[in-house]
Amino acid sequence: VSADVRELRELYADATKLYHHLLVNTAAGEQGLNYLHGRGLDDGTIDAFMLGFAPEGNVLLNFFTEQGRDYQLLRRSELFVERDDGSLVDRFSNRILFTIRDRSGHPIAYSGRKMSSDDDQPKYINSPESPLFNKSQELFNFDLARNGIRQAKEVILLEGYMDVIAAFQAGVTNTVASMGTSLTPEQVQILGRNAEKIFISYDADHAGQAATKRALDMIQKDGKMAAQVVHIPGTQDPDEFFRAEGADAFKSLLQKNVETPVAFGLRYLRDGRDLSNQQEQLSYISDAIKLIAGEREPVVRDRFLRQLADEFSISLPALNEQLRPLLLQQT
Ligand code: ATP
Ligand code: MN
Ligand code: MN
Ligand code: MN
Repeated sequence: VSADVRELRELYADATKLYHHLLVNTAAGEQGLNYLHGRGLDDGTIDAFMLGFAPEGNVLLNFFTEQGRDYQLLRRSELFVERDDGSLVDRFSNRILFTIRDRSGHPIAYSGRKMSSDDDQPKYINSPESPLFNKSQELFNFDLARNGIRQAKEVILLEGYMDVIAAFQAGVTNTVASMGTSLTPEQVQILGRNAEKIFISYDADHAGQAATKRALDMIQKDGKMAAQVVHIPGTQDPDEFFRAEGADAFKSLLQKNVETPVAFGLRYLRDGRDLSNQQEQLSYISDAIKLIAGEREPVVRDRFLRQLADEFSISLPALNEQLRPLLLQQT
């Protein structure tokens, strides 16, 4: 690695230690620690994930300035925001910090969460990209999860930091998060080199479901992993589910509450459509056939075609006739 990367890594390691110390040992961090305990995290988990707290004011800047650190290095680090007059201020203020680590475990970025919901500040503020942090290539927790993923040949993809941390604390260690709802092709490739199967367990809300659809399409295109969609009952996200129901209940969801990509896709296609409307019905059927054409196994395709045939009183030969050219296009 370059000298620049080496210096930045060292800086982030020091910043992470300071932020963690502020969280667990100081009065300034007490509110943050209470917040995390209130969300069910224990001290071992808080240590393992190097969680931190950024108080108000320029705590980090003052710390590094007293050490006589190189100003240009501080500028490049993206740990600070540069004002118009060229002066730096701490980027994170009065926030819990989720430390984002690269695949070797080096801290490379942070995501700062506000603790109260009674202002209109964004819930999370993330580090921008830097020489250490190429957002599209990183998966939250991949370093700690890699062994578990390789052993099980399975990875569980979640939306957020808290989801992964709650899973980890409950003993489910092969989970990563895409850090928001947009998975990238690079992230899919990384996972595909380590797992044969991917469970997607995004939030049950609309954003989560739309992101699930995009992720499935990307995983299919990559072609390395078999995918399953996990449904969390109710409106919970995995974090809330782990806290309420525990790891065994989550594992049983992986067995019992899963859908194949095609089944998910068909349900997603129907969502919000008025199938009593003739026009919408036809467009649904045509989209559904396209989706079924993406399924590799003829037997599975046949089962979905039969469902369509039954539901809309169409002959199976007619459906097959429409499907066939789509299959040819793919090979
Ligand atoms: P919490 O349980 O603390 O509310 P969450 O993980 O459930 O957090 P979601 O709103 O479901 O939060 O968002 C999922 C993920 O999307 C977050 O963990 C974060 O990585 C990302 N995210 C959410 N909101 C923002 C934001 N305003 N800016 C950047 N990233 C965000
Ligand atoms: Mn969400
Ligand atoms: Mn969520
Ligand atoms: Mn949540």
